[in-house]
Amino acid sequence: MFFKYIVVGAGLSGSVISERIARVLGEAVLVIEKRGHIGGNCYDERNRHGIILHRYGPHLFHTDDEEVFSYLSQFTEWDIYQHRVLALIDGRKVPVPFNFTSMDILFPEALSKRVQEILLNHYEIGIRVPVLDLLNHQNEEVRFVARYVYEKVFLGYTIKQWGKRPEEIDPSVIARVPIVIGKDDRYFHDRYQCVPRYGYTELIRRMLDHPKIKLLLNTDFREIGRLQNGKVYVFDREFHGTLIYTGPIDELFDYCFGPLPYRSLKFDFEELEIPWFQEVATVNYPNDYNFTRITEFKHIHTVESKRTVILKEYPKDYEILKDVPCYPIFTTEARRSYEAYESLLRSFPLIIPLGRLAEYRYYDMDDAVARALRVFREKFHNA
Ligand SMILES: Cc1cc2nc3c(=O)[nH]c(=O)nc-3n(C[C@H](O)[C@H](O)[C@H](O)COP(=O)(O)OP(=O)(O)OC[C@H]3O[C@@H](n4cnc5c(N)ncnc54)[C@H](O)[C@@H]3O)c2cc1C
Repeated sequence: MFFKYIVVGAGLSGSVISERIARVLGEAVLVIEKRGHIGGNCYDERNRHGIILHRYGPHLFHTDDEEVFSYLSQFTEWDIYQHRVLALIDGRKVPVPFNFTSMDILFPEALSKRVQEILLNHYEIGIRVPVLDLLNHQNEEVRFVARYVYEKVFLGYTIKQWGKRPEEIDPSVIARVPIVIGKDDRYFHDRYQCVPRYGYTELIRRMLDHPKIKLLLNTDFREIGRLQNGKVYVFDREFHGTLIYTGPIDELFDYCFGPLPYRSLKFDFEELEIPWFQEVATVNYPNDYNFTRITEFKHIHTVESKRTVILKEYPKDYEILKDVPCYPIFTTEARRSYEAYESLLRSFPLIIPLGRLAEYRYYDMDDAVARALRVFREKFHNA
């Protein structure tokens, strides 16, 4: 076979590793992608009014990782963008993560000031304190505010997002809900927060634009490849190179240890004949309506237009081969099945699993890039 490297999936993980193999090793790579487009879940496109839309939900790039930022900067110019989110709580829109401004909007002034003073005496300004810590605070008013945040900001959102009660969910999810000490209303606090000027698809297109990379869209690996007795067959011939697989690991093995559970989303885009719909890019609805949040894309990629586009996200159960697998559900059973797939994979030494679906992890974009760069270094370019 002509190609020494085959990469399944042209998402961010598959594209980074393909780019490295082509550019650093100078080797030819065949990239196989089952969708009709590159970019995986980071895919975005311009509508007829020039508004950039993220087809699989809003994607905000943020990282503290210098290497990831400088690597990606080879393929894009950036626009500075700091994400801000509001949540509709008891009919008022307040900043989340919950901070002193949110407190001032929702509580009587005297109570808000007293609680803020206690918090400022206990914690450094700017830090994010897990709500769980404050639920057990010695002061009754602090506990009251923490309980309110937990119930009104977190509980409803979590039940909608996961279709479960919080106690059925991994405790680390609850532990992460923060209250900000101060008025910093940015959603992320990483050093680099920005969006690629021409969108993620263009960034990834430039990454894959290399004479050594051949891209096959609309092709499911299962149509051209199969696994048998520790060997990989492609177009019915034994493949002796390296297969980097970024698709779902359970699908690769025909779900022999059962499907790995995911939560999915229904994405509902609406084009509106008004210039702006809401104050910030994302407004969360923890307690009202069936959707979790509304995103207005013009806030993320600014553009002059008399129209705007919003996206409502409706969480739903995941149906295999039909829905987009969005968020892994880390139950004990799921972890066990994943380990079974992982150990089966060890009998296929030519296959390297990479990315959020093959490794059954939640990776932010910077994590996915960092992971692909690391795998490249460790497996192919021992520096
Ligand atoms: C709703 C949502 C919002 C998110 N928001 C953010 C955010 O704001 N910031 C952030 O940093 N990250 C965000 N992420 C995470 C981000 O999407 C991931 O980090 C990134 O997509 C990981 O890329 P990947 O290549 O590992 O996976 P994917 O993007 O899923 O790519 C895998 C690719 O493999 C292809 N494939 C699968 N099976 C096969 C097969 N059998 N044959 C051929 N091709 C196949 C798929 O079609 C897909 O293109 C978000 C994720 C979701 C779900």
